[in-house]
Amino acid sequence: MRVLIVEDEPNLGKQLKATLEANGYAVDLEDDGENGHYMGSSESYDAVILDLGLPTMDGLTILNKWRKEGRTMPVLVLTARDSWSDKVAGLDSGADDYLAKPFQTQELIARLRALIRRASGNASSELIAGDVRLDARSGRVTLAGEPVKMTAQEYKLLSYLLHHKGKVVSRTELIEHIYDQDFDRDSNTIEVFVTRIRKKLGPDVITTIRGLGYSLDDRAG
Ligand code: CA
Repeated sequence: MRVLIVEDEPNLGKQLKATLEANGYAVDLEDDGENGHYMGSSESYDAVILDLGLPTMDGLTILNKWRKEGRTMPVLVLTARDSWSDKVAGLDSGADDYLAKPFQTQELIARLRALIRRASGNASSELIAGDVRLDARSGRVTLAGEPVKMTAQEYKLLSYLLHHKGKVVSRTELIEHIYDQDFDRDSNTIEVFVTRIRKKLGPDVITTIRGLGYSLDDRAG
């Protein structure tokens, strides 16, 4: 899952990026409104954390533009403390959730997880396919109840496929959603990760759809 943070407070931005990365997300950080708007318009994100007060273009303008452009990714708006007008304006502009500053990072992560889950139509934070279970809260993966150790990239790939269970996901889509923009993106590595995941979770866990991509369904494990 890939997340965009648009936040101009350097310490807060860096801290959020580090925390989200430690929680298994690929993260891009922008500290400027126009750049943030551009990234959200041109890249694929599973969710966006958007500050309202930003240099060059404010958060509400960015959000309005994205929605007019047909960008539907879930957006969590960071508002000033107790500013009910910010909250109303944010929700009216198409925000999916908001959080007032200062906030607990754990609350932000929980809300972000819920937004991503709802956007992909999953009711529970535990994603299940056959004998494979991924608990998005703890970051743990089990096969028939037994814990399986995954690397960060394997986890991101498995998590994305589980969020889109039963659908065919192209290699390009996987690359867009498991790497941040600074990562050296090599589409061959996707096949390597898939091979490793099959070794850990069983040969049938991920189906290769020739010429189209990959699919994961309830036959998994
Ligand atoms: Ca700000």
